[in-house]
Amino acid sequence: MSEGKKTCDLCNLTVEVSGFTLKLKTGEEKVFCCEGCKGIYQMLNEDKVLPE
Ligand SMILES: [Zn+2]
Repeated sequence: MSEGKKTCDLCNLTVEVSGFTLKLKTGEEKVFCCEGCKGIYQMLNEDKVLPE
């Protein structure tokens, strides 16, 4: 079984390019479709996201 495609945690689009991820303090990992979505999520959830 191959890994299914992930969807962006901000806009729900299919993630075509991997690498836009954020680690949360909970240990959870969020994936995004682009740098923009990652940036917005990071801004909105500053308190939950682990600093890089
Ligand atoms: Zn997105």
